[in-house]
Amino acid sequence: MKRDDCIFCKLANGQIPANTIYEDEDFRVILDANPASEGHALILPKEHYADIYELDDTLAARLFPLARKMACAMTETLGCDGFNILQNNGEIAGQTVFHFHMHLIPRYKNAPNNQ
Ligand code: 5GP
Ligand code: ZN
Repeated sequence: MKRDDCIFCKLANGQIPANTIYEDEDFRVILDANPASEGHALILPKEHYADIYELDDTLAARLFPLARKMACAMTETLGCDGFNILQNNGEIAGQTVFHFHMHLIPRYKNAPNNQ
């Protein structure tokens, strides 16, 4: 199901243009609008799930292989030195957009604002 009031539904399904770096029948991977590092991207399911608690098992099973594939490809393309994969659920955990997404965050040894 898609939600009319959900910006990530619109981005995932191409109703709002996004900087897409990968797409298949179930997912779109786009660049984050407020990146934590160069190349920070988000894996978005095309269907609406608010969080990991709602996520479909079939999609969940596809997710980590895709995240791994993206991390390998991005590391090769961007030349990053490390990589974070993270995923927030609930306001207290830092979730701000309530359409499930996974963060792909390349890390660079010489970035100015490493934490
Ligand atoms: P959360 O805090 O929910 O785990 O992550 C939400 C992420 O979505 C943030 O990193 C934020 O920068 C990103 N974001 C929010 N709105 C948009 C948008 O309209 N377009 C894109 N590309 N990223 C967005
Ligand atoms: Zn949505």
